[in-house]
Amino acid sequence: MFGKILIANRGEIALRIQRACREMGITTVVVHSQADTDAKYVKLADESVCIGPAQSKDSYLNIPAIISAAEVTDAEAIHPGYGFLSENADFAERVEKSGFVFIGPRPESIRLMGDKVSAKQAMIDAGVPTVPGSPGALPEDAREIVRIARSIGYPVIIKAAGGGGGRGMRVVNTEAALIGAVNLTRQEAQSAFGNPGVYMEKFLENPRHIEIQVLADQYRNAVWLGERDCSMQRRHQKIIEEAPAPGIPRKLIERIGDRCADACRKIGYRGAGTFEFLFENGEFFFIEMNTRLQVEHPVTEMVTGIDLVQQQIRVAAGQKLAFRQRDINLRGAAIECRVNAEDPYRFTPSPGRITAWHAPGGPGVRVDSHAYSGYFVPPHYDSLIGKLVCYGDTRAQAIARMSVALSEMVVEGIQTNIPLHRELMVDEKFVQGGTSIHYLEKRLAARLPKPG
Ligand code: ADP
Repeated sequence: MFGKILIANRGEIALRIQRACREMGITTVVVHSQADTDAKYVKLADESVCIGPAQSKDSYLNIPAIISAAEVTDAEAIHPGYGFLSENADFAERVEKSGFVFIGPRPESIRLMGDKVSAKQAMIDAGVPTVPGSPGALPEDAREIVRIARSIGYPVIIKAAGGGGGRGMRVVNTEAALIGAVNLTRQEAQSAFGNPGVYMEKFLENPRHIEIQVLADQYRNAVWLGERDCSMQRRHQKIIEEAPAPGIPRKLIERIGDRCADACRKIGYRGAGTFEFLFENGEFFFIEMNTRLQVEHPVTEMVTGIDLVQQQIRVAAGQKLAFRQRDINLRGAAIECRVNAEDPYRFTPSPGRITAWHAPGGPGVRVDSHAYSGYFVPPHYDSLIGKLVCYGDTRAQAIARMSVALSEMVVEGIQTNIPLHRELMVDEKFVQGGTSIHYLEKRLAARLPKPG
């Protein structure tokens, strides 16, 4: 096992990884920007190294600075967390070439999944169902593109092969709009992702977002750890996630989960990963694979009792998975609310000093957050300041616990989306379960203006 791990991230996930390491007796090094110098989790780490100014490109995305920090502190492995460099194959390669272990998949796997066209092909080869669409990237020939769209049937969606973060996609409803849309998406894809490749898919009109968590070691042992429903989204950003997905027959989930684990064995995947699917009319359609830990991993931890971060560390250190598929028992239900520093009505960021912070507690309540009274939320990064995760024997109990937890939670000095979460916990459709990815936005559009 490693003696020392460098954490190349910030905020709640830096603290989450630090906790996992400390529990395992591993020394931690946290790298941070000038904006995060005074954060409590930075002080709590065994060592810390300032790697640059506040701007992410000069610090959390600064590969040479991170590698030198690992060198000067004699770290053995680097955990990238999520976001930032976590899905950057060049970074993973540089880490390994510099003699450190990258806590994540092999660079080739990151590259394969980072290109959505090659990812989709790999899934087709592995027997994972995908959204019906163009065979690979679209050709140049306009007549051929029209023919492909006709065979799929409108509406279709044009997506950038190198796309990410909900960008580089365009829905097309009619043949008249097709070629213009393809050309525009190509141009955007070139300028945003440096890759003009685009592909076409059937546009699913009312799907749910369901994802499968996987874990694999370097000896081709792979398991899947249940599913998560992440359909509560605004502008493609998840805000509530839960496990299990309400109302989907276990047989269907088991079939898709087994396919995902098979795919991991087939591509020689190592580490934790997530297969994202759209789910409509009882069918799963693969859209992409995330080759890293996800924000919403705690709900899976709550229903499986498995610490995903520690498992990532173990398989990166070369250990074999200590369990098989039949050893994995899913129990109860868990819900996560992402707490963002933002206006709960207009969704504009609300950075600044937290003057009062009171976290809830009680049975089944987990708070993953680096915030505290007196913490300054810097304006330079993502607005996520914490995650409230509640577990119950049943989904109803998890929701009840979440409602109580949200009512206890106090954050003053900045605005947060806690009022929105309080509303959603008593929303009839949410309580029923199984809403589509469009539900939240429709509901927000119909919401009354801010009181007062
Ligand atoms: P990104 O990597 O940018 O997040 P994804 O491929 O995961 O891109 O798609 C992001 C979101 O776009 C999905 O969660 C879904 O809301 C929508 N989307 C993508 N493909 C389709 C499709 N074929 N039909 C309907 N919606 C889609």
